[in-house]
Amino acid sequence: MSEVQYAAPVIPGVEDRFYYVISEDCVMCGQCAKACPVEAIGEGSGQYEIDPALCIDCGTCSYVCPLGIPRPV
Ligand code: SF4
Ligand code: SF4
Repeated sequence: MSEVQYAAPVIPGVEDRFYYVISEDCVMCGQCAKACPVEAIGEGSGQYEIDPALCIDCGTCSYVCPLGIPRPV
């Protein structure tokens, strides 16, 4: 019986996949940062910010945000 070969998973670059962004309407409550599973969200100047290189596009931040501010781009 021959062994089945699988190709290595393709890990897309930041430029060819979705990630979430936070707008200036952020009230800095910090809920999204606490909920992000990969710690991609940090406190910026006047609003929280998402590191696109870390974001896995899970949508949790948008779900927990009281204003639904994080949006995929
Ligand atoms: S979409 Fe998911 S991984 Fe990306 S910043 Fe929001 S909670 Fe974190
Ligand atoms: S949960 Fe919403 S309002 Fe709160 S810090 Fe995150 S983006 Fe800003």
